[in-house]
Amino acid sequence: MRCGGLQRFSLADFPGTDAAIVFTTGCNLRCPYCHNPDLVTNGGRAGVAEAAVWDFLERRRGRLGAVVLSGGEALLQPDLAVVCRRLRDLGYRIKLDTNGTRPQALAGLLEASLLDYVALDLKLPLERYPEIGGDGRAVGQSLEILVAAGVAAECRSTVVHPLLGADDLVAIGGLIANRLPWILQDYRPPPRCLDQTFAATARPFDDAQRDDLWRQLDILGLCCRWRGQEISREAPPSVRISLPARPAVQNGR
Ligand code: SF4
Repeated sequence: MRCGGLQRFSLADFPGTDAAIVFTTGCNLRCPYCHNPDLVTNGGRAGVAEAAVWDFLERRRGRLGAVVLSGGEALLQPDLAVVCRRLRDLGYRIKLDTNGTRPQALAGLLEASLLDYVALDLKLPLERYPEIGGDGRAVGQSLEILVAAGVAAECRSTVVHPLLGADDLVAIGGLIANRLPWILQDYRPPPRCLDQTFAATARPFDDAQRDDLWRQLDILGLCCRWRGQEISREAPPSVRISLPARPAVQNGR
């Protein structure tokens, strides 16, 4: 695993427990608003020694609840299953943040019961993925794999004008069709972003755009939660998040 960074503690990234976040390097998409350009464009070179990450995780075993594998795109790492098994042996729950472009790799980890929680980014309507260098069919497959697997999961979309309009988000919501929780997150200008030209015009939705989107979602009965806004349509009970028990720590302290 090539590590670009390690966040040692977060209370916001795994429901119900504290977590460390491991950022892997390399990504196969080019989202213009990406706030991790170093992870995307450094050719997959490691920014943090993997041994240092494992040393930290070994020392925190039994005290830290979960590890989030994020990126970049973590499913590009060829040894991710090995990494997950090692995390399991240390007693960690495992969350994967993914852009959904590697459905077979995702399915393999799920079939091996190596993931407890998956956050799938849905960035555009599927037919528009070529604009950011991706294949929407693969992302659609990942969504269906997650729904079928029954693993705790959520979909996330960044609400950013002018890349997305209300119609685009309605299309994404229609794809999810209330089968998984859907989190909308406002675009926040990062200190550095992948496409500085895009950054010059990018902004979150204004009130009129937000109202328009909300009205359309309401008419269609599409559920979502808008992070940071006091607005949400509750997902039906069948899609609310339910996490499995924490795995046993092997040779725990
Ligand atoms: S936002 Fe995520 S998927 Fe998009 S380029 Fe950045 S790391 Fe890759």
